Amino acid sequence: MEYVSTRGGVQPASFGEVLLDGAASDGGLVVPTTLPVIDEERLREWRALDYADLATAVIAPFAADIPSDELAAMTHRAYAPEAFDDERIVPVTALDGGIGLVGLSEGPTWAFKDLAMRFLGEAIPYRLAATDRTLTVLGATSGDTGSAAEHAFLGAHGVRVVMLSPQGRMSPVQRAQMFSIDDPAIRNLAVEGVFDDCQDLVKTISADTAFATAHSIGAVNSINVARIIAQTVFYVWAWLRATEEVDGRAADERISFVVPSGNFGNVYAGHLARRMGVPIHRLVVATNENDVLDEFFRTGVYAPRTREHTHATSSPSMDISKASNLERFVWDLLGPERFVERWPELAREGRLDLRDELPRLREEFGFVSGSSDHAHRLDAIRDVYRTHGIVIDPHTADGVSVARTFTEPGERLLVLETAKAVKFPETVAEALGDDAPPVSDAVRALLALPQRVVDVPGDVDAIRAVIEELD
Ligand SMILES: *Cc1c(COP(=O)(O)O)cnc(C)c1O
Repeated sequence: MEYVSTRGGVQPASFGEVLLDGAASDGGLVVPTTLPVIDEERLREWRALDYADLATAVIAPFAADIPSDELAAMTHRAYAPEAFDDERIVPVTALDGGIGLVGLSEGPTWAFKDLAMRFLGEAIPYRLAATDRTLTVLGATSGDTGSAAEHAFLGAHGVRVVMLSPQGRMSPVQRAQMFSIDDPAIRNLAVEGVFDDCQDLVKTISADTAFATAHSIGAVNSINVARIIAQTVFYVWAWLRATEEVDGRAADERISFVVPSGNFGNVYAGHLARRMGVPIHRLVVATNENDVLDEFFRTGVYAPRTREHTHATSSPSMDISKASNLERFVWDLLGPERFVERWPELAREGRLDLRDELPRLREEFGFVSGSSDHAHRLDAIRDVYRTHGIVIDPHTADGVSVARTFTEPGERLLVLETAKAVKFPETVAEALGDDAPPVSDAVRALLALPQRVVDVPGDVDAIRAVIEELD
């Protein structure tokens, strides 16, 4: 399996070579040139596997340069039951009305980012040891990527982490999970600006090849292709769980996924799983008030917005108005040649008009979308609590809220639970009032830890200076 850039300006490379990279050197995103096939027989064989073994099976064809016994050792450490609150790693729960929840937040930082990041936390040090290198992981986070990365790489040999987050935009638990880490190899920078500004800074620094090479910069945010690949595993897993006997009923419904989205990383992994052959009926993109992606899938026009037009919402991990991973999907949609012709329109005109492709988005690729807002989010949290006694987080609530507008007989809509409610207690309290669960001892202890973070202006030189100082 080889990897190229969406923009066509990079020689094909192996998994090991792209594992440490963010953007490709021509400014594009790294994509696999072919996809493995997941047919019925495979799915049947995979039913009996636990999460770690399924991860080995799904990832192996993408990572041909890692020997299979090494890969299995990595997935077994990454997906060890002791590291998760639920020994199934990803529990799948049926709710009412044809809706289900895929529990992706049982890992150490209580968000779905742990699942892919824990794999990188194994694969990257392995690659560094094999090539006798060190790495400075430079990342941008709207809250959950940063904590997942720092926890996944804590103590990893040869890896340092510099994590940019938008000042004042994260929840107290998100801040505490990152800023309480006391390790000289992990640096937290709170940047003046929104998430998109942080991401732009990471892109600029990574695109400066001389600087990036001199300081051995790599990226683990959602543009890292290995992260996307590791995320395809939970779509296969959830499909397998949802199609076996659930509550005594054999499930023969069509299976769709509803994915709370911002940067299009998670749902793009679902798209890959679908293209590989997993019988996923529809992929429902659910946004919050920052509805750039919903606009794209409804109208065919992708028009990223500026920071002034990015709302600070109560589902803050989706406060994103430039969906970086959409470039990968547009590449799949148009094919490499037409992509290279059409994509520059975005930089030239600030928008990409793909209205002609709208029927293919729905029919061929199964994409539909919807958006949620504060009131719907609160309603969904309340309803799921009253009906099932389960407290969902605001992002998952956006998914449930959008799922309800798409339910059809014979179809099960699996909403990806992207974070645990404890990360966002204010919104949960607003929704549930006196019914809100009390703060647990674990959360209280976390919030009481001393925190370390450096405030920086949103400019490249300030970030460069921090990286230079590390050496
Ligand atoms: C990262 C994140 C999202 C958005 O995922 P994308 O891959 O960026 O679309 C949604 N919810 C939570 C809780 C997240 O941490």
